[in-house]
Amino acid sequence: MNIPRKHSGSDLTIFSEMSALAQQHNAINLSQGFPDYEIDGRLKKLLAKACDTNHNQYAPLQGNPLLIDNLASFNQNRTLPLSISKEEITIVPGATYAIYTALATILQPGDEVIVFDPCYDSYVPAIEMNGGKPIFVPLNEKFELNWLDLENAISDKTKAIIINSPNNPSGKIWSATAIDKFWNYIKDREIFIISDEVYDLLVYDDAVFYSALHHPEIRKRCFSIFSFGKMFHITGWKMGYIIACEALSTAFRRIHQYLTFCANAPAQQALAEYIEIFDPKENQKTMQSKRDFFLQLMQDSPFEIKSPAQGSYFQTMNFKNYQPNMSDKDFSVWLTIERKVATIPVSAFYHDQRNTGNIRFCFAKKEETLEQAAKNLRF
Ligand code: PMP
Ligand code: GLN
Repeated sequence: MNIPRKHSGSDLTIFSEMSALAQQHNAINLSQGFPDYEIDGRLKKLLAKACDTNHNQYAPLQGNPLLIDNLASFNQNRTLPLSISKEEITIVPGATYAIYTALATILQPGDEVIVFDPCYDSYVPAIEMNGGKPIFVPLNEKFELNWLDLENAISDKTKAIIINSPNNPSGKIWSATAIDKFWNYIKDREIFIISDEVYDLLVYDDAVFYSALHHPEIRKRCFSIFSFGKMFHITGWKMGYIIACEALSTAFRRIHQYLTFCANAPAQQALAEYIEIFDPKENQKTMQSKRDFFLQLMQDSPFEIKSPAQGSYFQTMNFKNYQPNMSDKDFSVWLTIERKVATIPVSAFYHDQRNTGNIRFCFAKKEETLEQAAKNLRF
């Protein structure tokens, strides 16, 4: 059977590949981004309660009304408040889905979408599957943007730009100043922004999360995407939400209703009740201490940390002092098999899979897991 390919991504994502390799070799899995610790027991109980209290049939297309209300309050209560009306929120089955559906909402065949290189692995396939053409704007070795490259990439065909802060894989965050500057490059054209903000609650060292929605002009053309998987450490629930102005939300739902109709109903009820008792500050502290603990453990390793993650739960490190001749992919495989620690080669986030000399660790793990991994990595 010959089924033509619809995207340039791999047949098996690097996350599936490295997690499978970790399992096969009984390695500590710091590759795919997911927590290995227990989730909050109250959330487990709320999900069971939601089933017991008959939240088992379709939810409204837009989402459970209590969840939407509570998300509006949650956003209002951020350190930098976001005033969002209920009409601007849609509950979705995960951020990956929301990114795809936002692209399906706006793209016509041949439209160009700018992505930064490196970027999260689902963006380019999602653009291509929706008939769009990815345009790559390279970041430098420190994952920084040269604004001139962005300016040069923008054309009459540019329909959208995908941004991601806190960033996977770099751990970098966009400041308010950067968002303001970004606006200057797009303000005279009708370009949509898809802002992947799934690590919104994970920012460190007193940094404050700044959403694209905080910018009053960008907000009018922006889809901001969030994931309960990251917020509440439940990646397997595959639940998230998207915020966009009313006109864009209506356009989004026009597609969303035929892709899934609505997201999982009992999960929505449980999330609605949980968000009332969840403490984002406590959560941030816990994750900061994990990042700090991991960085401290890795000080004695042969890996070079160029800069500590400002956000997300990923830390990239350079291994070139240790293994100058190995590609990052080969090194990741070797590390998994020989040192029993699985990581993600940073090349997987580049469109040409170029060798980077960097690997990405996920530190959303129990202290004992991080300790054991660090022991294995002291050569
Ligand atoms: N965007 C980024 C930057 C991510 O790291 C991830 C990983 N989970 C996603 C989107 C997808 O989130 P979800 O699991 O909610 O689809
Ligand atoms: N977002 C996760 C990561 O970057 C992986 C999600 C997935 O497996 N597709 O590790």
